Amino acid sequence: MAGTEIDKTKKINRRQFFQTSAAGSIMGATALTANKGKLCADIVRNSVIQEREDFAVVITDKCKRMHQRDTIFCRQLWDHDLVKKVMAIEEAAKPKPAKPAKGWTHLDQALNAAGWAVDNKFAAGSENGQPHSQAYVWDEPAQRRRVEFKDPEDAAKKAKKAASFLGASLVGITRYDPLWTYSHLLKEKMGEDAFNKGPPQFDIIPPDFPFKPKSVVVIAVEMDYKTMALSPSSLEGASTGLGYSHMASVGYSVATFLRELGYRSFACGNDVSLSVPYAVAAGLGELGRNGLLITRKFGPRVRLVKVFTELEIKPDRPKTFGVWDFCKSCRRCAESCPSGAISFDKPTLKGETISNNPGVLKWYINPEKCIEFWIENGSDCANCITVCPYNKPDMWHHELSAAATALPVASLHVLMAKMDKAFGFGKIQGEQANAAFWDAE
Ligand code: SF4
Ligand code: SF4
Repeated sequence: MAGTEIDKTKKINRRQFFQTSAAGSIMGATALTANKGKLCADIVRNSVIQEREDFAVVITDKCKRMHQRDTIFCRQLWDHDLVKKVMAIEEAAKPKPAKPAKGWTHLDQALNAAGWAVDNKFAAGSENGQPHSQAYVWDEPAQRRRVEFKDPEDAAKKAKKAASFLGASLVGITRYDPLWTYSHLLKEKMGEDAFNKGPPQFDIIPPDFPFKPKSVVVIAVEMDYKTMALSPSSLEGASTGLGYSHMASVGYSVATFLRELGYRSFACGNDVSLSVPYAVAAGLGELGRNGLLITRKFGPRVRLVKVFTELEIKPDRPKTFGVWDFCKSCRRCAESCPSGAISFDKPTLKGETISNNPGVLKWYINPEKCIEFWIENGSDCANCITVCPYNKPDMWHHELSAAATALPVASLHVLMAKMDKAFGFGKIQGEQANAAFWDAE
């Protein structure tokens, strides 16, 4: 197997062993060639993915539409206690070493700025929840002459083809559901006047879109595997920033495609609505213990952007492949979270802070603890993405290994989570790896 062949005269280390045959050692597939292995992985993968009629996460009648005011990023606009706390953390974290640590050098920070550049230029507000702005405006006009599709299935085929061409790593379709749209939105006032008045000024606006959305095209964009593993550092931040830049680019492009066909459409990122429920509904993945979407191909290593459209598109069904059961035994994200924001316990119906919308049975993370760590760290963090056993490069033996997680055997799940860790996957890399980034091929 080119690229994975090992010199048998040399001692095989644990990592090499796992990279060449870990899944095979579990599943008796070591003798497979890459092509047969991939075929086998495809068969196993397809046999463990279940299409569902229902939503795949328990939603009770306590779940109501969330006010955007309560989201952690919008709380910086009005929650003075949180702002004070965060500022004190920032102040205390100020002293930096004279020589920048690896992962935080000038070179690293330049790459970080470059990763964020497109988002900063064309979609700066969205990552903090600012609705109806730049690449995410609601009211760009559609062509007056409409292209008619044969049926909603035909529309789905074309919309997905276009989204993939325009840069989506994964794409699914679901119906518009107002439950996942914020009941009220916070629109920050911009301009000199607002800046001169001290604390941020904002209006509370209703989500009154210029049309009634019927369908949602849900798009996942992959983030780079190697730089995500350098979390938490400026280099990992570059990867996250590039993910945001791709969200803006792909989302805006797909919305433009649909508008050119004569259907009013707009993209939204972190503004306007929750993303994970739409992605679950559209069959892109399952909800994990870390509060993120776990996709079959990239694990949680994706960013999500949605396109709301008035075009009727055939929806996909939710899909499961064993994440819920696997998360019950695997706690790697909770163990690796530097702020203790991720629960070790059983799923519950409510979280600890006002930024947790109650009524959904899940593992609630504590976004206050998470954001406080980000401030202290001086950059965001992606440990809960990096360490997840579903986060792997796209290689056939990882497919086999991930497929095995769908077997409903708790003891196997515990063993697999341990093996994943023992063989070095999902390891949070240190300064050395950050330094090596620039020299690697
Ligand atoms: S981003 Fe970092 S601090 Fe926040 S929940 Fe994930 S691991 Fe914890
Ligand atoms: S690290 Fe483990 S527990 Fe956390 S989301 Fe991934 S599979 Fe679930």
